[in-house]
Amino acid sequence: MDLASSAKNLSELCTFRVGGAIKRFYQSTDTADLTAAVALADRSKVPLLFLGGGSNTLPRDEGFDGMVIKDARNSVVVVTDPEDLTISWRDSCHPDNLPNPNSIGANSAIVRADAGVMWDDLVKYAVSQGFSGIEALSGIPGTVGAAPVQNIGAYGAEIGDVIIGLTAWDRVRSKICYLARRDMAFGYRDSILKRSRVALGGATGRWIVLGVDLELQRSTESSPVAYSQLAAALGVELGERAPLEAVRAAVLELRRGKGMVLDAADHDTWSAGSFFTNPIVPADSPILRGLPAEAPRWEVARPRSYEEIMAAMMPSVWRKNSGISGENGSAGGSVGETGSAGLERETGLKSRSSAGMASAAEPHCSEDDGRLTATDDCPTEIVGSAKGAVDAGSAKDVAVKLSAAWLIEHSGVPKGFALPESGAGVSTKHVLALTNRGGASAAEIRALADYVVSRVRETFEVELVPEPVIL
Ligand SMILES: Cc1cc2nc3c(=O)[nH]c(=O)nc-3n(C[C@H](O)[C@H](O)[C@H](O)COP(=O)(O)OP(=O)(O)OC[C@H]3O[C@@H](n4cnc5c(N)ncnc54)[C@H](O)[C@@H]3O)c2cc1C
Repeated sequence: MDLASSAKNLSELCTFRVGGAIKRFYQSTDTADLTAAVALADRSKVPLLFLGGGSNTLPRDEGFDGMVIKDARNSVVVVTDPEDLTISWRDSCHPDNLPNPNSIGANSAIVRADAGVMWDDLVKYAVSQGFSGIEALSGIPGTVGAAPVQNIGAYGAEIGDVIIGLTAWDRVRSKICYLARRDMAFGYRDSILKRSRVALGGATGRWIVLGVDLELQRSTESSPVAYSQLAAALGVELGERAPLEAVRAAVLELRRGKGMVLDAADHDTWSAGSFFTNPIVPADSPILRGLPAEAPRWEVARPRSYEEIMAAMMPSVWRKNSGISGENGSAGGSVGETGSAGLERETGLKSRSSAGMASAAEPHCSEDDGRLTATDDCPTEIVGSAKGAVDAGSAKDVAVKLSAAWLIEHSGVPKGFALPESGAGVSTKHVLALTNRGGASAAEIRALADYVVSRVRETFEVELVPEPVIL
């Protein structure tokens, strides 16, 4: 295999439309070729960027001094024979965690999609077939393979809600294995796949997603609408259903109004969507006492460290040998443990459950791209879904989520803000999105990100965490 098949510019492959040349680029429609290319890059100690739609990646002007691989496979099948589904489970990463075939409902449609399929094409297909479950995730850019990496979410839904599992190439063990939903420790814009990238310190994580299995419902009605702005647009109550096509159309319209549907003519969409996640701080952090009372906040489960997740979820054979040749094996960080006493007094939070944990029953409040912000359905508080990423049952596992959008706006950075003579700017529609106004460099986008981080740090002592992968 020729790793130097052709060179491209990252600006052509990433939605920020910035970034310099790629040294080696490889794209294939063949699974064996893709895994061989990844294995070859790893054996050759060449830095690897397995790229999807480039919609969550901020490149460098200097380019990428390594191997960029893209999956061009594009098949979607409806699995009708359960044997076809369970065959891949024989390669399970964690045999004890296998999905229970009996839990798959009679009304379910099992959809298996290649990682290279564009996510919104899959949503469109599902809606056209009368399969409900992902219609609220309409319009999110990027590929199916990247979708579970940060557990994409919008308008009250997350891919983690409907995923059965995925087939992945394990770069540490150099083999294909099946990760069931329970293996993936899904949380708010979080999964073991994402954590493994942070832990390894490279551009791409330990598992290369090759295909994803979703359990959707055979229904022309949507899942219960879980976001008030969407419910209002549809003229239904929260928790009611609406026709699939209507939900997709309404979500796309709402997203367009916020610059959250890719559009070459709209510079507000030359972005990575929201640039910052909502910060999560320990529940006993003094930062919380310093925040104005009106600052939106909500208690959530404490995200676990990569090591905790691996220890809890992966059998020892999959934990061994956690380094990939050529990349450093340092551990990822974690939000510190929290004190339990006087949570309400310390933080001003309302405890909502006896265990004080985020749960699947919580409403999902949304950012302007359908994720988290203070909105009319969540006037002053934020609720996240930390499902799967937490140890249930103890108050020391409680943390507090803050609204990045609120913090940015109240630190004096308005929509449309730009640094002098910079081609980068905050979206005119959505304060969480940093954008390329036309001729920006990657360095200008980074400088804007650094400025926003420093404004929030100086004003509130809160450290914002970027959502995109910064190369
Ligand atoms: C306008 C706009 C709106 C957005 N709105 C939302 C939103 O509402 N909700 C939301 O959650 N996100 C949103 N995003 C962010 C982004 O679309 C998602 O994170 C998406 O899943 C990224 O997919 P991608 O293929 O473009 O990933 P890329 O940017 O190509 O890659 C991101 C990371 O995933 C890794 N990766 C890619 N493919 C694979 C694979 N097959 N296996 C393993 N790792 C892989 C890459 O190595 C990299 O580390 C938005 C982005 C934009 C530009």
